[in-house]
Amino acid sequence: MPAFPEAARKALADTQLRRNLAHATGTIRAKRAAVVGEVDEWEELRLAGAAIKDNTLRRLDEYLPQLEASLQARGATVHWARDAAEACEIVAKIAHTHGVDEVVKVKSMATQEIGLNEALAERGVTAWETDLAELIVQLGDDLPSHILVPAIHRNRAEIREIFRRGMADAPPGLSDEPAELAAAARLHLREKFLRARMAVSGANFAVADSGTLVVVESEGNGRMCLTLPEVLVSVVGIEKIVPTWSDLDVFLQLLPRSSTGERMNPYTSTWSGVTPGDGPQETHVVLLDNGRTRALADEVGRQALRCIRCSACLNVCPVYERTGGHAYGSVYPGPIGAILNPLLKGVGVDEQTDSLPYASSLCGACFEACPVRIDIPEVLVHLRSKVVDAHREGVPKPEAVAMRSASWLLSDARRLGLAERGLGVAGRALTRFGRRVLPGGRRALGRLPWPGSSWTNARDLPAPPRESFRTWWRKGGRP
Ligand code: SF4
Repeated sequence: MPAFPEAARKALADTQLRRNLAHATGTIRAKRAAVVGEVDEWEELRLAGAAIKDNTLRRLDEYLPQLEASLQARGATVHWARDAAEACEIVAKIAHTHGVDEVVKVKSMATQEIGLNEALAERGVTAWETDLAELIVQLGDDLPSHILVPAIHRNRAEIREIFRRGMADAPPGLSDEPAELAAAARLHLREKFLRARMAVSGANFAVADSGTLVVVESEGNGRMCLTLPEVLVSVVGIEKIVPTWSDLDVFLQLLPRSSTGERMNPYTSTWSGVTPGDGPQETHVVLLDNGRTRALADEVGRQALRCIRCSACLNVCPVYERTGGHAYGSVYPGPIGAILNPLLKGVGVDEQTDSLPYASSLCGACFEACPVRIDIPEVLVHLRSKVVDAHREGVPKPEAVAMRSASWLLSDARRLGLAERGLGVAGRALTRFGRRVLPGGRRALGRLPWPGSSWTNARDLPAPPRESFRTWWRKGGRP
């Protein structure tokens, strides 16, 4: 994947994409604001959510064995996966043991993160996405661009074309009316639900004391996957734990309002192990690390593990709204992706991941919207410093050279005085001859040659002032 600036430039040139994104994020933002405004104690709920998550993350070494024991006591089989390869291998092995060559899937970020569909396909098992938006992405041979609404970059005319091309049983004359599109998807998926013997899910939460997994969704496809097949495999990140049912209460208020802008989820499914004669008779839970313990070791960054994947931060982010999710090159886009990807993968590993902490104007809207108070701007700045540290070896970048020069200049009063005098001369000349005028009347320099063009291609460069503050002060503060 290209680094963020390159991918973003391409996305910005797509006006249809920008129109789709602006419409979709604007609609969700308004819905969220309305339902959040109804809750007087919203800030207290945010604080409670953050405190529960922080406490759980601090004591994961207690809660994880507790969850394992509770799950086993309820008849589930627990597996531990250090990374994506191990997790995929476990799921594929279960499929082969049962002789299945297809599985139905509940929308799950964890399985996308580990590339499960592709790994299963390599082993001869087809994974059918059953969430409507995920189905659109799968049929369009596309990538998700939003955590909650993976096909947010598509409008209904595009979706009709995708269905016509990719859905063999699409009704002839299918229109782009939402009800018709949904009906076509429902028919297409129904026979898969009834046929599949194995399902794969993630979990929004895992309750440690009762061994209960929780999935919240809007379409009912999750409920079908979680109840109809004989075998159910759930891939769950180790940060999804909440200690008790009463802790769950807080998140079931925070999540629907922050994500879909609803007071409660249409479908909240919970299951604990196996219940004879009811639902899947074999359940497996794969507890996934895949970089989470690395993130946990980062004192500033570990707050990202509080994330409940509501996507509120994406919907308020001015950068995301203009570039869309593909520019982030990951299943986790937007502000949370800009911190989670480097935290999970590590900094200094590849250029694309290292570019993500810079994909922000640090406006702070993400922090304001986050239901578990993740201070994303703080983590972004922290990660930027780690990226800089990781690249101190070798040929320094122009930015590093500029910073070192500035440090040399500013650390000596005599050098600073000389520079000020030089800049004053330049300032007087440019004020006279500079052609561009900024708001407020100050002149600006035009485009500079490389390496200065890295700055002037995207930003204004005001002409230096005619005199420095110190000169002005010595003159008694008179112009
Ligand atoms: S960082 Fe916060 S706002 Fe963004 S997806 Fe996670 S919980 Fe939601």
